[in-house]
Amino acid sequence: MENKNKPEINLTNAEWKQKLTPQQYYITRDKGTEKPYTGQYYNFFEKGIYTCVCCGNELFESDTKFESGCGWPSFFDVYSNKNVTLREDKSAGMIRTEILCKKCEAHLGHVFEDGPPPTGLRYCINSESLKFNTTSK
Ligand code: FE
Repeated sequence: MENKNKPEINLTNAEWKQKLTPQQYYITRDKGTEKPYTGQYYNFFEKGIYTCVCCGNELFESDTKFESGCGWPSFFDVYSNKNVTLREDKSAGMIRTEILCKKCEAHLGHVFEDGPPPTGLRYCINSESLKFNTTSK
């Protein structure tokens, strides 16, 4: 179910601007999209955990990352369904499913149903919304 309550971390736009780089702000707070094949993680396959660049919430694991060829980091599953929010997005003349950080409502990317087994999902995520951590679980 979608979390209709206020996010746990609720900063003003001015506060986010101080905390983030302009590109991170554009992606996560203005729902931007980085150009394909430009992000730091689309072609990056080290072992670790990807956290929210805004708040540190755990979002994805390297074990579920796959080479989708789409130019953005792609995962077939999330770290935990409790850590993300899915929301219908009718922008740009399409109906898509947006994925957001549940803790701070950072825009991460979109989910598509053309991923590999076992989920058949492709979480197509902007590198700019993520921070890679080598810390093991
Ligand atoms: Fe977050």
